[in-house]
Amino acid sequence: MTNLPFLDLGAIQQSYAPALREAFERVLQSGWYVLGREVEQFEREYAAFCTARECVGVANGLDALSLALRALDIGPGDEVIVPSNTYIATWLAVSQVGATPVPVEPREATANLDPARIAASLTSRTRAVMPVHLYGQPADLTPILALAREHGLKVVEDAAQAHGASYGGRRVGAHGDAVAWSFYPGKNLGALGDAGAVTTDDPALADRIRVLRNYGSRRKYHNEVLGVNSRLDELQAALLRAKLSRLDEDNARRAAIAARYLDRLAHGPVRPIQVEPQCGSVWHLFVVRHPQRDALAEALAQRGIATMIHYPVPPHLQPAYAALGFAPGSFPIAEALHREVLSLPMGPTMRPEDADRVVDAIHAFA
Ligand SMILES: *Cc1c(COP(=O)(O)O)cnc(C)c1O
Repeated sequence: MTNLPFLDLGAIQQSYAPALREAFERVLQSGWYVLGREVEQFEREYAAFCTARECVGVANGLDALSLALRALDIGPGDEVIVPSNTYIATWLAVSQVGATPVPVEPREATANLDPARIAASLTSRTRAVMPVHLYGQPADLTPILALAREHGLKVVEDAAQAHGASYGGRRVGAHGDAVAWSFYPGKNLGALGDAGAVTTDDPALADRIRVLRNYGSRRKYHNEVLGVNSRLDELQAALLRAKLSRLDEDNARRAAIAARYLDRLAHGPVRPIQVEPQCGSVWHLFVVRHPQRDALAEALAQRGIATMIHYPVPPHLQPAYAALGFAPGSFPIAEALHREVLSLPMGPTMRPEDADRVVDAIHAFA
């Protein structure tokens, strides 16, 4: 039997090949390669897609997060609420601006930041909350935004896994003060290299990020602030435009695979992460829980089915964050998730029979 890849990136790019070649030709012939017309067009198109007023292209998702925080004047001495269950980039962005990440546990069912647990972690230094739309499902934004308003906090959303997701009937892109995106190749909207963006409804904030991303400069060789080089290049922007035009179709294909998984896994033996009714997921990952996760992964591997773990070690137990002093057991919900989660194959080029093969293998393991 042929192997079933976790995500067939080559097949995905192949499905866009004519449009990608055309985009490449356009950039090749333009004579302009960094921050130009393709970037401007992409920013306009992606803002419209997200129902946000502004979009600023940057070099990657981590920069999108840290530049959003910097533009909101968050820095040394400040605390930022982050999920205990997330990819480490969310925390690193806080550390990069000199602030301190303060972890808060997720809801068991969704694995996303639990709004009811935030208040207990607020101090006089708390400046912002960073909900992560993990696995493609928006965090429960209404109570998070209400709490932020009540306490004068900024909300920076990490939407690196949620291109096209919706919350309360509106696309993710400007519910909070700023929304950070990654276009890393494996994301739902992926470039053929690194790329990122920030979307927002606040033109002044967008303007600050535009200045920061390009050496703190608005006019060439005139530098207003200590900026960075986090520019989006024309080639990635052109390639992203080609892929954005069919993102909704790709997401619909992922949703069809997810529906098939959910239907056939409804009665065990694994527990899929749940999606709440106010949330429209774009199924970046299809994640299930099982107490014998490693044995299940091994059984699937023996049948040629690739899986991944998102994520095996939570940020608070990474050596990189040893200085924060969190011992094992500090965040038991996140730790249990990290022990039990398994991501099944998921992607827009998967066929229904591929999903059936995965489900059959799971049932055979049980
Ligand atoms: C991918 C990802 C990022 C970082 O994006 P890069 O483009 O790799 O820097 C941040 N947060 C989450 C949740 C991600 O999945």
